[in-house]
Amino acid sequence: MSSEEKSSVSRGEAIKRLAIVPAAALGVAAGMSPAQAADNKKQFKYQDKPGVHGQKCSGCRLFRPPSSCQVVTGKISPNGWCTAYVKK
Ligand code: SF4
Repeated sequence: MSSEEKSSVSRGEAIKRLAIVPAAALGVAAGMSPAQAADNKKQFKYQDKPGVHGQKCSGCRLFRPPSSCQVVTGKISPNGWCTAYVKK
């Protein structure tokens, strides 16, 4: 195999590898609906009941009465909890 042929094979491999990355990224993006992307409750493991030691949204610095949060999207319960909890 000449050096030119080796170079050609390397270029082909490089192009294949470059094509894999965007395809993988698109697959992840395509698997997620806009609603899922906007709702991050799962990401923060939000639950509608208090966490350990009675930690709950109403006692969290990120809570915005009556039922919103600075981090978790959508409506939340004052008695809920998530992993982003920060004690007041
Ligand atoms: S960060 Fe979590 S615990 Fe704190 S108010 Fe938001 S949802 Fe509740």
